Amino acid sequence: MDQNSTITGHTQLTGLLGSPVAHSLSPMMHNTAFRLLGIDCVYLCFDVGERDLETAVRGLTACGIRGFNLTMPDKNRMAALCDELSVVAEMIGAVNTVVNEGGRLIGHNTDGKGYMLALKDAGYDVSGKNMTILGGGGAASSIAAQAAVDGVRKIYLAVRSGSRFHNRTVNLAESICSRTSCTAELIDLADTSSLRNAVDDSALLVNATPVGMAPDTDHAVIEDASFFHTNLIVSDIIYNPRETLLLRLARKAGCPVFNGLYMLLYQGAEAFRLWTGVEMPVDEIKRLYFAG
Ligand code: NAP
Repeated sequence: MDQNSTITGHTQLTGLLGSPVAHSLSPMMHNTAFRLLGIDCVYLCFDVGERDLETAVRGLTACGIRGFNLTMPDKNRMAALCDELSVVAEMIGAVNTVVNEGGRLIGHNTDGKGYMLALKDAGYDVSGKNMTILGGGGAASSIAAQAAVDGVRKIYLAVRSGSRFHNRTVNLAESICSRTSCTAELIDLADTSSLRNAVDDSALLVNATPVGMAPDTDHAVIEDASFFHTNLIVSDIIYNPRETLLLRLARKAGCPVFNGLYMLLYQGAEAFRLWTGVEMPVDEIKRLYFAG
């Protein structure tokens, strides 16, 4: 909150629930955007574990919170506490953004939207094309569901056999096929030949696993540069380091690349839009918090 801003009896509340939350960049992003646009609202962090989530949600809703974000470990639990879910949140059973509409809680998942907006920001449009997503966890699911809703033609979901998320990924693939005009196919990450066929058939490759994230920066899910054909956009949702090994290999192979920094920005921008009905001033937020 800016030192010159004044909290009055009219000031509205938004925030972040989860644990831990103190490290989050979200308060800076949202409070700066509220100040820049003259919106009388604040964003605060609430360290709430799974056990206390329902009590906290009920209390904040009763107090008229305008909306809030959820971080781990509360995203799945929150889906069950909502009165209504967006199509994407329903498909993946996870909510990271809630809008309080007069006591009715509407759950959204803006991670995938954030990725798709970051893709657009980087100058790419993959509607009607195919993509491969590495990983089947929370971020991968959200990206897959949003991409399917946004008009991607086919999505290859590449997960490890024995993945914690295997059944969930099977369900997601079925849901994508039945609820959208996109098709989805599961690939075993260890099946190099199927993975190669999937990437060959894709315009976009996304790493949605933690492989390559600091401090273990010497690894990538795909380290064989022959996978990176020249028509392939390669992205990593990791932003620390800014250039993962996957992106470095792909860039050297001549592929356009981008990292996860703006996914982080745009998932917040989408939440801001849902709460306020106006666009976050992303260029200013980029300049202040995402430069370099
Ligand atoms: P998650 O729910 O734990 O899922 C991680 C996925 O990666 C799982 O499918 C897991 O497979 C797979 N995986 C982990 N280690 C692997 C390995 N060595 N080889 C192959 N697959 C592996 O995590 P998440 O929330 O989706 O986050 C994934 C990454 O995205 C994290 O690095 C996170 O920081 C980043 N992220 C970035 C943003 C952003 O805004 N840029 C947003 C969300 C997440 P198993 O089930 O087999 O373990």
